[in-house]
Amino acid sequence: RVTMVIRSTTGVSVSTALPILTKLQKDCATPLPLLRNIADAMAKDMRDGLEVDGGSDLKMILSYVDSLPTGNERGLFYALDLGGTNFRVLRTQLGGKDERVIDTEFEQVSIPQDLMSGTSEELFDFIALALAKFVKKEGGKFVLPKNRSRETGFTFSFPVKQTSIDSGILIKWTKGFAVSGTPGRDIVACLNEAMGRQGLDMRVSALVNDTVATLAGARYWDNNVMVAVILGTGTNACYVEAVDAIPKLQGHNSISGRTIVNTEWGAFSNGLPLTEYDREMDAESINPGEQLFEKTISGMYLGEIVRRVLVRMEETGSLFGNYIPERLHTPFALGTPNISSMQQDTSQDLENVGSILYESIGVDSNLDARKMVVEVCDTIAKRGGRLAGAGIVGILQKMEEDSKGIVFGKRMVVAMDGGLYEHYPQYRRYLKEAVTELLGPELSGHVVIEHSKDGSGIGAALLAATNSIYEH
Ligand code: BGC
Ligand code: MG
Repeated sequence: RVTMVIRSTTGVSVSTALPILTKLQKDCATPLPLLRNIADAMAKDMRDGLEVDGGSDLKMILSYVDSLPTGNERGLFYALDLGGTNFRVLRTQLGGKDERVIDTEFEQVSIPQDLMSGTSEELFDFIALALAKFVKKEGGKFVLPKNRSRETGFTFSFPVKQTSIDSGILIKWTKGFAVSGTPGRDIVACLNEAMGRQGLDMRVSALVNDTVATLAGARYWDNNVMVAVILGTGTNACYVEAVDAIPKLQGHNSISGRTIVNTEWGAFSNGLPLTEYDREMDAESINPGEQLFEKTISGMYLGEIVRRVLVRMEETGSLFGNYIPERLHTPFALGTPNISSMQQDTSQDLENVGSILYESIGVDSNLDARKMVVEVCDTIAKRGGRLAGAGIVGILQKMEEDSKGIVFGKRMVVAMDGGLYEHYPQYRRYLKEAVTELLGPELSGHVVIEHSKDGSGIGAALLAATNSIYEH
């Protein structure tokens, strides 16, 4: 049931909203010196997190992935991907260097809202059931040699303390998940139990973060990929690190001398330009004080920050005409896809902005109000994109400081994925601009920021192949 509050449209005015916008722009400003500080702080936090567990905001988790795909992988492999909003299952038939990917099939389901705050068993039963159904449809070019279990990679996009390549303990949920009973438990054990309940025989050969899977997937096609970044519902980055540069890593031998480190940079917090809206959103979130970088730059939150600004603008003046209070005041009613779409509106009267505002948060708007809203969206997207760019430069700096020339001396690829990066052109542009501003034209010429679309699905399957118990 909704109540319509009717206000006279003559009272609508953007003049009281203007000072709010001006203050927002000031608080969200990301001039070059600030970005430099962010990049430096990111590099320092990385170093401190590698020194000792708990050494900084960044967990710098060891992935146990020491060797990346080469192209020689062969056979049938599955991948599961539990991320922010969707669950995906995939199978691929790999044919080695010449044939590469012979065939791939995947299915995707969105995760029902109630499962995000249910019990661990409910969530994993849902996953195992979807997987079991998918396996039943196997046929065609997909062949499993006799007397073998199927093998899968499991991309689990939350902070996990890895205990081996195929086991790890959930540290905490992020991105709005609050499933009971999982934190502190081995994720693979949870999945194995649920698969047992489904009577499904499948071996989890690799448990990986989505950044790690993306790096592996991108590396399959390009040897110069050294960093992977996810900008979707949540955010994170991983990179190839020298084993010698990880003091906290003891008794771990890597033949290659390298390993992938999952930074969990979503927890970064030093020097962020935060506003009252960010602080309020954080305080009311299910994980207050946590994931501050994520809350400033990732897809789950950008729309919500904008909505909070619009509430303030409405309350202090009257930015909109008629409006439905319940809708305007509903947390997360304005999504990041909405704010991105509004920024794509190039029409004279911003008609699309008007209808998105009406559909999502139930407000009537005139042209001036629409222009104001687009400015707010741009301010939040700009801050997010530029901070993400500074984070990337922080990682490159850290890599360069340790191994002179490896980063800035040759072509170096950063593989990017996630819906925010993919579907928000302005955000993407702000990110790239910040990288170029920070590195300068010469160095940034060596750095290629490349979209690796859905690389994480195939990446997890490839890592299952790399870590298979069978000969292929
Ligand atoms: C999680 C990371 C994940 C990222 C992107 C964050 O909330 O902590 O593990 O990689 O989201 O999906
Ligand atoms: Mg994902």
